[in-house]
Amino acid sequence: MLEIYNTMTREKELFKSRGNNRINFFVCGPTVYEDAHIGHGRTYVAFDLIKRYLEYKGYAVFLIENITDVDDKIIQKSKEKEIDFKSISNYYEKRFKEDMDLLNVNSVNAYPKTTDYINEMLDQIQRLIDKGYAYETSEGIYFEVSKFSDFGKLSNQDLNKQKSRLQNENLETHSFDSNKKNIKDFALWKKTEEEPNFDSKWGKGRPAWHIEDTAITEEFFGQQYDIHGGGLDLIFPHHEAEVAQMEALSNKKPMVKYWMHTGFLNVNGVKMSKSLNNFITIRDLLEKWDPMVFRLFVLSTHYRTRIDFSEKSLDQAEKNLKRLKNTIQKLIDFKKDLDIEDKLENNELLDKLYEVKNNFFKDMDDDINTSKALADILNFTKVINGFISEHESNPNKNSLKFINETLAFYEDVESIFKLNLFYQDLKEDKGDYDDLLKILLETRDKLRQEKNYELSDYIRDKINDLGISIEDK
Ligand code: AMP
Repeated sequence: MLEIYNTMTREKELFKSRGNNRINFFVCGPTVYEDAHIGHGRTYVAFDLIKRYLEYKGYAVFLIENITDVDDKIIQKSKEKEIDFKSISNYYEKRFKEDMDLLNVNSVNAYPKTTDYINEMLDQIQRLIDKGYAYETSEGIYFEVSKFSDFGKLSNQDLNKQKSRLQNENLETHSFDSNKKNIKDFALWKKTEEEPNFDSKWGKGRPAWHIEDTAITEEFFGQQYDIHGGGLDLIFPHHEAEVAQMEALSNKKPMVKYWMHTGFLNVNGVKMSKSLNNFITIRDLLEKWDPMVFRLFVLSTHYRTRIDFSEKSLDQAEKNLKRLKNTIQKLIDFKKDLDIEDKLENNELLDKLYEVKNNFFKDMDDDINTSKALADILNFTKVINGFISEHESNPNKNSLKFINETLAFYEDVESIFKLNLFYQDLKEDKGDYDDLLKILLETRDKLRQEKNYELSDYIRDKINDLGISIEDK
């Protein structure tokens, strides 16, 4: 039975979806004004894995990650580069998705963009005003925090304690509006004549950060859904504000059943972040390392635990990845070469396999502990390698059942971990493309012989688009 740690209750809870089989899952996506760094990589790999495990358990999971494509940082960059903000955000969104693809983070069902949901945000803001939770000043529309008595429940803070962060802290990071009723009230809409801006009944302006997510999730899932995820840094104020907005509208129906938060990826003990300028982009890392080495490096730590980044840990991840791939390959080759019948069923080995499987799924069910689950399968490679070398000296001690069941287990592991375990290395992947290219070129030659130049030119142009030039001799 799967148990998941819920930030809201601060406990591990038995997982049960709201609907029968469907899980609606939202994860805060990136603000696209620069290339993603490996801290982002950590968080998105973790949620991709969580989704895959839920699917393995038989759920139909719909995962959304929003793309913040209008924001002060994007606008700042567009001014510096003298390019419109859309070109900046489109460019970095495309690169973000390319990075995610390389890391096998391709389980996300939708990437809705902020600018496509402005009307939904305006509608939510109006409803908050109508219900008495929001008010207008000369600078914007604000959520009145003191009206929502549950404010602080996610980050476990008491609104009424004088020393609480909530009492004293201005939750706005960018500006301070002296007309706010209270320092802790946060913006829903910021009025501005500066481009880019959007029309609203309160004049031109831009949406504030927290309203994006609730507008998008209400549109996709309604007022209540199963899981909301993000990095630890987002619990307060971002997720706290989301709870306030949505539950104010729904008369306090719990917006989310399970809140899941990833730990930071740190460098020298400090969170990797763009603002601290201590970041390594995913692209830079992948110049040197195979993407699956990074993926395994991330999954070697439980998703809630901090990861300290170092080249040494990547080295270790690379060794472990090779060990897993080599063992699987050996097992496949061994099976191919097996010319004698399965004479003796090796029950001892089968028992060991069942024990490992049992431990693996127990660890995964324990708040998705990939760290322990990976250790289980890495340790098991010793048993498999021992079995193969023993067989070399004693061919009668054979167990086809063990081989088949072990390979089937690794296939299950691969469907969850997505580490390309059944490929020897990425270069061999490219070998497949070379073969495909050969087939395409041969087809094109045939078309030219038949004087079907329209189709043959079409193929040439499409191949050229991939950066491969073709010369006709
Ligand atoms: P941001 O671009 O800062 O809005 O972050 C997008 C997502 O990546 C959020 O869920 C963050 O919590 C997460 N994130 C950012 N930096 C890190 C980090 N160093 N380690 C883990 N997650 C991070």
